[in-house]
Amino acid sequence: MSKVRYRGRFAPSPTGPLHFGSLVSALASYLDAKANQGEWLVRIEDIDPPRELAGATERILNALEYYGLHWDQSIVYQSSRQSIYQEYIDHLCTQQQAYPCTCSRKQLSTHRGHYPGICRNQQVIPASPFAIRLKTESIPIDIVDGIQGKQSCNLAEAGGDFIIKRKDGLFAYQLAVVVDDFLQEITHIIRGSDLLDSTPRQYYLQSVLGFLHPNYAHIPVIVANDGKKLSKQNLADPLPLKQPQTMLLRALHALNQHPLPELGDATVSEILQWATNHWNTSAIPQTLVIPEAQLPATVV
Ligand code: GLU
Ligand code: ZN
Repeated sequence: MSKVRYRGRFAPSPTGPLHFGSLVSALASYLDAKANQGEWLVRIEDIDPPRELAGATERILNALEYYGLHWDQSIVYQSSRQSIYQEYIDHLCTQQQAYPCTCSRKQLSTHRGHYPGICRNQQVIPASPFAIRLKTESIPIDIVDGIQGKQSCNLAEAGGDFIIKRKDGLFAYQLAVVVDDFLQEITHIIRGSDLLDSTPRQYYLQSVLGFLHPNYAHIPVIVANDGKKLSKQNLADPLPLKQPQTMLLRALHALNQHPLPELGDATVSEILQWATNHWNTSAIPQTLVIPEAQLPATVV
């Protein structure tokens, strides 16, 4: 069996249906994989039940199918992988790279998002509920993002030791995403730039666990030309399940791929084939501003 050189993924949390912004990110990740003869996987990040919306997973998967974004291999559901995440937590605690933290939200409220290391030297397993934090180091983490360019962050200064398992027993996104990207052998991560801030923590955790780092590229958050971010009132409406061609072309415009006017009559698979053949990551702007005329119409 030949070794897969490129493996990308789309990893939505089932907290709601896909909207135009998520289509743009999913499409970019799909096209980059296909243009590189790679595989494109879908992973459902359902590890936070309180934030999930009933039926969202089905709606997301239906929308992907409808928009022609067919995935390779079977879907991985994070909800079925708790024991794997726990093994990594145990390993990090045994190695003294992580520790239990009993601090209350109230106790930390005066530290403005920076964890001051209160429980860092806690040796015994506490009797009261505890989170698990990863020890950070005061070193710069430099990452070259495929779209956003060089990013530098000192985790110890930025937020300090961060949570990898929550006090309520749920595994933190940062841990689950790093473990799964590694176990699924993901080589390229293309996702929305709302996750740019999380990347240094993921990168650091990969280093601590001895994992190779995937390549990262963050698609800018889309703003309407009045400078507003996607909101429920405009671009954050659920993707319509009619005329996927129109939305795909708008997404390609947003990604600055200049779809040909002739594609107006094309099928979904013709559009995706054209976009794969003409995929140009260097054309993706660092900020996506969509003119009023290109805004998806409100869903009926
Ligand atoms: N599950 C995350 C989200 O939907 C994205 C994870 C990722 O792409 O790294 O926001
Ligand atoms: Zn603590």
